Amino acid sequence: MTGPAVTFDDIIAGLDRVGARNRRFIVHASLSSFGRVVGGADTVVDAVTQVGQAVLAATFTFCPAAVAPPDDRPKRNGADYDRDRLGDEDPTPFTPDLPAARPMGIVAETLRRRPEAVRSRHPLSSFAAIGRDADRYVAAHDWNAPMQPLQRLYDDGGYVLMLGTLLTSCTTIHLGEQHAGRCPFIRWAKVADGGIHRVRVGGCSDGFERLAPWIEGTAQTHVGRARVRMFSMAAAVEATVRRLAEDRHALVCPRRCRRCMDAADGGPQE
Ligand SMILES: [Zn+2]
Repeated sequence: MTGPAVTFDDIIAGLDRVGARNRRFIVHASLSSFGRVVGGADTVVDAVTQVGQAVLAATFTFCPAAVAPPDDRPKRNGADYDRDRLGDEDPTPFTPDLPAARPMGIVAETLRRRPEAVRSRHPLSSFAAIGRDADRYVAAHDWNAPMQPLQRLYDDGGYVLMLGTLLTSCTTIHLGEQHAGRCPFIRWAKVADGGIHRVRVGGCSDGFERLAPWIEGTAQTHVGRARVRMFSMAAAVEATVRRLAEDRHALVCPRRCRRCMDAADGGPQE
């Protein structure tokens, strides 16, 4: 790795350059994108929670996912039930202290572990929050409304902060898909009572970086080697709705996967 190590003050200065101070935002972070950070993920969490009024992070968990029950096979659900591995035969039940899945990143997991953090109770698509109204954002997360905490942040004029991540990790675009009229996919998850329950989840996000030129008012800077971007959730949702109205395949991933194609057709049909 080259270049000087990134410090807490460097991150604070970068957050101020993109206008993060006193805003409420969801953060998507790649720790390794910075180069070396003095103090690691804790330093990033310290910085975003000092600057932000409220900070959310996606803390999704995949291990509570169960295979589809043989008698419950909705169509257009982003799944080839005979071939796709939708979950485990013996899944791990969701509990609030279950670590976030590795792809969510060490910063999200570090935020979740803070004593002051609260976490929603969706078994596959939970969010953690710190700061003003944190409890309200994560309260009573409806298992059929996977982006509900984000909808609440959106209603409060929230922002998206990308720390070295691509829009492929931007869950707010899933919220935009729902504003465009798409139904979230149906999956099954094991919860603490031992039962397998139907839940809804977002789809494939591998094509989301294609939305970048359409999101108005994006502020951008660099901290260490990381590209830092901030934009309003309203701008991201509006861009998603507009692009999908122009071309329903606008955000399909390069693999043209089944989830992307089914989402373009509106999502599951019952
Ligand atoms: Zn895809």
